Amino acid sequence: MPKKKVIIIGAGPGGLTAGMLLAHRGHQVEIYEKKEVVGGRNAPIKLGDFTFDTGPTFLMLLEVLDDIFKETGRKMGDYLELKPLDPLYRLRFDGQDDFFPSGDEDKMAQEIEKRFPGDGQNYLRFKKEEGKKFDRVYPCLKVPYGSFLSYLKPRFIKAIPRLDPFASVYHRLATYFKHEHLRIAMTFQAKYLGMSPWQCPATFTILSIIEHRFGIYHPIGGLNKISEAMAKIIGEDGGKIHLNTPVRRIIVENGKTTGIILESGDEVRGDAVIINSDFAWAMSHLVAPQDRRKYTDEKLRKMEYSCSTVMLYLGLDKLYDIPHHNVIFADDYRDNVEDIVHRKTLSSDPSVYIQNASITDPTLAPKGKSAVYVLVPVTNQTSGIDWQRERKDFRDRVIGIIMKKTEMKDLDKHIEVEKIITPADWENEYGIYQGATFNLSHKISQMLSFRPHNKFEEFDNCYLVGGGTHPGSGLPTIYQSGRIAAEMIGSNK
Ligand SMILES: Cc1cc2nc3c(=O)[nH]c(=O)nc-3n(C[C@H](O)[C@H](O)[C@H](O)COP(=O)(O)OP(=O)(O)OC[C@H]3O[C@@H](n4cnc5c(N)ncnc54)[C@H](O)[C@@H]3O)c2cc1C
Repeated sequence: MPKKKVIIIGAGPGGLTAGMLLAHRGHQVEIYEKKEVVGGRNAPIKLGDFTFDTGPTFLMLLEVLDDIFKETGRKMGDYLELKPLDPLYRLRFDGQDDFFPSGDEDKMAQEIEKRFPGDGQNYLRFKKEEGKKFDRVYPCLKVPYGSFLSYLKPRFIKAIPRLDPFASVYHRLATYFKHEHLRIAMTFQAKYLGMSPWQCPATFTILSIIEHRFGIYHPIGGLNKISEAMAKIIGEDGGKIHLNTPVRRIIVENGKTTGIILESGDEVRGDAVIINSDFAWAMSHLVAPQDRRKYTDEKLRKMEYSCSTVMLYLGLDKLYDIPHHNVIFADDYRDNVEDIVHRKTLSSDPSVYIQNASITDPTLAPKGKSAVYVLVPVTNQTSGIDWQRERKDFRDRVIGIIMKKTEMKDLDKHIEVEKIITPADWENEYGIYQGATFNLSHKISQMLSFRPHNKFEEFDNCYLVGGGTHPGSGLPTIYQSGRIAAEMIGSNK
């Protein structure tokens, strides 16, 4: 197989995966990253002596990452120190009522039976039945869907009876569980895709199966250590990562790309270009309108996008004794979701996720202190909300909710440093279309072959990786997108 020069735009998890696999196979890998650090939304944020993950904090389905390390002749354990978390997380309802789901099936069934009488057996039934769905659907997420012929493959045909795309995650799981809080505990995972459990296709009940079957991990130092490790391996295998080097345009000549133009004006030519920047942002900024027939600006506007998030990164001068992952549900969770998805307004009582990783990981903050990460799902930039105006009030509202509904009663007195990211910052600073932090929504008409293909449809020699492409948003699927693109380039598909 002749070796190629492969240009990758962006050193996020998708670009790094593709770069890692291609560099190991002897291709000349050149990654251009606009920021001063690798990882994208998976990069570290440093505030003084405190370290935070920018985005992902739940590491799931570890076998995908493990396989990628193995494919490059490495052991994941040589690069990452991984801690399994059990309980998986703390879920708090009505500001006081805690539930601690466990990855241990027997423990979980007993705990459910105690708290939600009659639902213990239902949990086991859910794991069995929805587990079958996972077994059938998961293989479909490992391969490209470039044409309708992909739907004729035995792997997909076997999955059809289990796909369940027309019910919603909530409606499907409500057929198993009687108690409302348990229904929410098993369906809120739709939010990992930035979607409402009442709208997200029931195909994605596999998200709760993934957590409950394979567990959740925390790498010491944060999930950003994964991107750092990938970048290291790329370097070890001869690839190059050019930091602080934004790309301005993709060069398209005679129906194929031949390279890129950097913001500096320099041209770089190569045999293939992989786009890892957010799909819709990349289309509207890196590909000239005359080179796009399918993904016109109008089409991009009409596509559906995930919700956004407001982030608070708080360096505290104390360590609270609360779990690693905490989800504090709004008193009226459904109403909160309606605000985000349909009303496109800010909730007076939003749900809040708090990561208190310093309870597990002493490397993130000085002794006795802690790095606290707060994520609040909010409506994306299609709302027209003026974040310049809302920023301070919303931040204060969230801090107030945390103080009222958790053990962090004196939080406001212990903040040494802080950083806020709003939907406007996701859009302007991070280059995420509509500030939709989880990219294109995962409704059925934007999945599989209806999602942007890993081998780009508009012109040749161009490949797409990352959350806005097939198979979807979330680290395991993003790693798969990188692997699919690397396979295609390596085998000339
Ligand atoms: C707040 C938040 C929480 C999340 N939580 C989880 C979680 O717990 N678990 C999970 O599995 N997933 C989670 N995700 C989803 C997903 O895993 C991450 O968003 C992931 O980082 C996306 O990877 P990516 O490769 O698609 O893109 P990105 O991480 O966005 O990487 C794209 C890269 O391209 C670079 N780039 C863009 N434009 C240019 C240009 N013109 N020139 C050069 N470089 C450019 C960017 O700087 C960036 O480094 C979360 C996401 C967010 C935002």
